[in-house]
Order: sequence, then C-alpha cells, then structure tokens
Amino acid sequence: MAEVEITEWRPRQPGFYLFQIFGIQARLDWSWFLVFLLVVWSLSAGYLPHEYPGYERLTYWTTGLITTISFFVSILIHEFSHAMMAIRSGIKVSAITLFVFGGVVHMTQDAKSPRTELSIAIVGPLTSFALAGLFGMISQMVPEDSHPMITIACDYLAWVNLVLGMFNLMPVYPLDGGRVFRALWWWKTGSLVRAMRVSTDIGKGFTVALIFIGGLQIVSGSLIGGLWLISIGMYMRITS
Ligand SMILES: [Zn+2]
Repeated sequence: MAEVEITEWRPRQPGFYLFQIFGIQARLDWSWFLVFLLVVWSLSAGYLPHEYPGYERLTYWTTGLITTISFFVSILIHEFSHAMMAIRSGIKVSAITLFVFGGVVHMTQDAKSPRTELSIAIVGPLTSFALAGLFGMISQMVPEDSHPMITIACDYLAWVNLVLGMFNLMPVYPLDGGRVFRALWWWKTGSLVRAMRVSTDIGKGFTVALIFIGGLQIVSGSLIGGLWLISIGMYMRITS
C-alpha cells in the first residue's frame, strides 16, 4: 500500500509477470504468494466457518478463494488508478508490483506540482471507497434465492475496500495519506523540501506509535493484532 516509487525506466521489473495493459506491466512480488495463501487460509478455515457456521468445507474454500482473488483485483484497481492519474499528468509508468502489504507504482519521475501530487495520491483511496460502495450495492441487489455466500463475500469485499481506503489515508509517508499531506503542505508553503521534512517527521512519529501500540497489544494478550501493527510499523519505517 506504499504507493509511488520513483525508479529508473527498466523494461524488466522484479517479480512475476501477470499481464500488460495501457503499456503498464502488472507484476507480483514473490512475497505476494505467501500473503495470498495466508488470506485464503484465514478466510476459508477461520473467518467464514467461524462467522457463518453450517456449510460444507468446500463452500468455505471456494468462497475464500474467490473473495481473496477479488480482494487482490481491488488492490490492483487501486494501484492502476494512481498509475492512470500519473499518466494523465504526463508521467511515465512502467509497472505496478503487488507485494506483501499492497502495491508499488513504478514511475519514471516525480510529480512536478503539488496539485499533480495531490491528484495522483488521492485517487487511490477514492477508488477503494468507490469499490466498497460497488460491492455494497451488489450485495443489496443479489436475488434472495441465491447462495448466501455471495452476499457474505460482497459484504466482506465492501468492508475490506473501505478499510483499505482508510488505511491508505493515514498521514504516513509513503502511504497515500502521507502524500496527500505532503502535497497540501507543499502547496501551502511552496517548498517541497520543507513539506518532505514535515511529512517524514510525522510519518516517523506515527510508525513509532504503531509499534508501541503493537507492543502493548502483545503484552495484553493480543498476539496476532500486535504483530500485525508492529510489522506495518516496521514496514513503514523501512520504506519511508
Ligand atoms: Zn494508494
């Protein structure tokens, strides 16, 4: 979910090649396969049978697999919205790579104005919110005699897209929210350097807070939630 990374134009990008559209390669980082299996497993063997008992195992695994694929397609659409906005602003995009926590858009140059930066950053969360609305609408429109798992999957996808949009709006660089904040600061002060410094400082404070809260959660007995927060915090510290 860290969004835009400036890289040299390279015809070959790391990871597994998926497809190419509008001249942009969609790729999967090797770490992604592990996360994919983890999400399928936690949905099919954990969340679904726990929340909606009484179905066959095959039903849970089929629903889990389709829901996970739809979730990753949603992330891909989110990343493509950044890429398309960048291209509209005259910035070349070579590839999108999905990896452990989301995706990276490989652009060949940085945004030249705060306005461009703002539009490239904000379009991602807005796309996720639109997808959340779309899945919510589909869930309402599913005929009553359909399999209940269709509604369950749509509700879940509406919810994860909403969370994805909100998570990305956190004011932590390099998340979209951090970029939005940096663009607004750049716009206000006219100085990209100062905007960079302020947004980096806020990002650092935020990640330290996340790691701290994660530690508190582990101490209080919530191991998975705590580890999740800490790994997000560590990831942000590494990438910022
Ligand atoms: Zn984004």
